[in-house]
Amino acid sequence: MNAGQASPCPCRADDAEAAHSFWTRGEVLRQFVDESHFSVRVVRCRSCGRRALRLFFELMDMSGGDDSQAWITGLLTDRQSAALEAPDADWLAVATDADPDRRFIARVFPRGGNLMIAWGTGPLPMFPHD
Ligand SMILES: [Zn+2]
Repeated sequence: MNAGQASPCPCRADDAEAAHSFWTRGEVLRQFVDESHFSVRVVRCRSCGRRALRLFFELMDMSGGDDSQAWITGLLTDRQSAALEAPDADWLAVATDADPDRRFIARVFPRGGNLMIAWGTGPLPMFPHD
């Protein structure tokens, strides 16, 4: 798929953990939701300018302190980026846009389980949160 591109930007590295951590240092362009257990923001890659919709979900475990957490970084197409610039932008519509080619990084720490991190394609997965 990357034929002809010698080295893709680190924001699209095959290593999902490396790409995820690269995006954590991106420039936040817009914050749709900023709660302690749920956040939605548009982030710009400081290297290539590509934009992504980043979601964070946390579900507290009141008894054991073993919280579930999920971070989703969905790469945005130009059309999706433009849609998110509108004053009344509907981020949820963009997040769940049935674009079969959209790539995202899912980093999920389920309660009582092990950290999972991988690239996926399609609409962004949504998780429960407090
Ligand atoms: Zn980049």
